Amino acid sequence: MQSLHRCAPVLRQLRASNLAFQRAAIARNAPKATTSVQRRWQSANAQTKNEATTAASTDPHIDPPSAAAAKQIKFTSESYPELKRDPKYAQLTSEHVAFFKQLLGSESAVLDGVTQDAGEDLESYNSDWMRKYRGHSNLVVRPGSTEEVSKILKYCNDNMLAVVPQGGNTGLVGGSVPVFDEIVINLARMNEIRSFDDVSGILVADAGVILEVADNYLGERKHIFPLDLGAKGSCQIGGNVATNAGGLRLLRYGSLHGNILGIEAVLPDGTIVDDLCKLRKNNTGYDIKQLFIGGEGTIGIITAISILCPQRSNATNVAYFGLESFEKVQQAFREAKGQLGEILSAFELMDGRSQNLYHTASGNRLPLEAEHPFYCLIETSGSNSEHDQEKLEAFLEHVMGEEIVSDGVVAQDQTQIRELWGCREGVPEHLGHWGGVYKYDLSIPINELYALVEETRAKLSEAGLIGETDEFPVVDVVGYGHMGDANLHLNVPVRRYDKTVEKALEPFVYEWVSKRSGSISAEHGLGIQKKPYIGYSRSETMIKLMKQIKSLYDPNGIMNPYKYI
Ligand SMILES: Cc1cc2nc3c(=O)[nH]c(=O)nc-3n(C[C@H](O)[C@H](O)[C@H](O)COP(=O)(O)OP(=O)(O)OC[C@H]3O[C@@H](n4cnc5c(N)ncnc54)[C@H](O)[C@@H]3O)c2cc1C
Repeated sequence: MQSLHRCAPVLRQLRASNLAFQRAAIARNAPKATTSVQRRWQSANAQTKNEATTAASTDPHIDPPSAAAAKQIKFTSESYPELKRDPKYAQLTSEHVAFFKQLLGSESAVLDGVTQDAGEDLESYNSDWMRKYRGHSNLVVRPGSTEEVSKILKYCNDNMLAVVPQGGNTGLVGGSVPVFDEIVINLARMNEIRSFDDVSGILVADAGVILEVADNYLGERKHIFPLDLGAKGSCQIGGNVATNAGGLRLLRYGSLHGNILGIEAVLPDGTIVDDLCKLRKNNTGYDIKQLFIGGEGTIGIITAISILCPQRSNATNVAYFGLESFEKVQQAFREAKGQLGEILSAFELMDGRSQNLYHTASGNRLPLEAEHPFYCLIETSGSNSEHDQEKLEAFLEHVMGEEIVSDGVVAQDQTQIRELWGCREGVPEHLGHWGGVYKYDLSIPINELYALVEETRAKLSEAGLIGETDEFPVVDVVGYGHMGDANLHLNVPVRRYDKTVEKALEPFVYEWVSKRSGSISAEHGLGIQKKPYIGYSRSETMIKLMKQIKSLYDPNGIMNPYKYI
């Protein structure tokens, strides 16, 4: 950092500790010179590496539970006895299964638990990532082309067989798994990149392409996928579009509603919706593809997308701060927007409790030595590394000089970038360490964003549900999320799913959000978890319009039944 010595006391203090570190580094023959905050980071990191590897390096793939773990999960039909199988749907027979086998040919394309014992093969398709929902499906079909999807859906529609579209099965609201015996239509075999134009930046790809694979493919061509999230190693781009996933880059690149240019999808009657448009501008009537974005598989199956992908930035910087209050987090965000404006690509929030639990569950040391009530991770992405570095340093000097930020570190290379990101991206996964997590994904006016975490914690404490030993179901109440998008993830890690906890949380959380005109689902969708609560965020009129759309596209109601619509 170029001007530490002319700055406020906090920076002088940092400089002093950096000098001490430098002496120690020289003694250890540290190979390269580093800047002030970077040295602190490396100091902490050197110890971390001896103890454990990072989330980013050990856990690149976020998978649904294994078959054995899935067997422990309670069936959704038992957890929610009010849900009843709709008798209008036919029961699967050997004749149905024979049709699918004949259509799809390959053995691996049909997992048949109807005419034979499928063993544990079906378990991971029936159970969700949170270990909260589990269905009874006896049949998984894995089509390899749009035409096959079309024939499958037409057959199901003609025979009143209910289906659940499934991508990477990383959804967090129970939308991707069956409730009863619905057929799972898994898109994993549709995984081809169809085309990419490096002048326009438009990618056309099958729905089953894994997000990380798409991003790596684009990376080799100096572009990026305009969406990034912790489950990128497992989720599919079709699932991302079906949930209108938000993720870590929305602040910079906007929502999929803007980036998706075209969609190919199949309606329940087999109609192929051929709207794989590659134009940025196309004002020719209703924009029907928007209905599939965030539709959660309730009106059809997305089989391919075309999407506008930005140029990959030459320079990426990541910094991680400790802050003393949520007020200071807001000030830091305001300053980041003002001073980093066009290069700011992420501003993420983690409270101290979420970082402590991440540390406990993962074994990874946190980047800062002292504990702070709040942490932020910011990322800048620009085209000129010198210019970006200068801006970032000026910003850091300002926020530390003004004592908005108490301490901070800046990553110096790709490994450090991954490790800092691990402290944010590793949170959702590691919160599940104790058994389960009640997860709420909420849009809240930014000034009140954290108040919900405090009130929820107080409520569960008063009810005697939080504690350190096994008799208490709740481990803690934590908050983290996409501060830049005013999107809070309120998470309640638990030792076991427990109806008393659920009743204390719901509808309390939804009422709280509704009173502030927020949204009960910022980016994860509604699935089964939020089915009863849609009215907290949508008016009667809007719900009626949604139902009309559903019955227009899916008159028999075979698509993803028992979910939000
Ligand atoms: C560790 C972790 C971090 C996460 N971080 C984020 C985050 O930052 N932001 C965010 O928005 N989400 C996040 N998620 C949630 C999840 O990854 C996203 O919702 C993702 O978009 C789901 O994609 P998927 O392929 O796994 O879909 P699935 O889970 O398989 O399905 C999700 C829904 O989409 C439907 N669906 C799937 N594929 C299709 C298709 N081809 N056509 C029609 N419908 C389909 C399913 O029926 C289901 O209703 C995270 C999840 C995990 C586990």
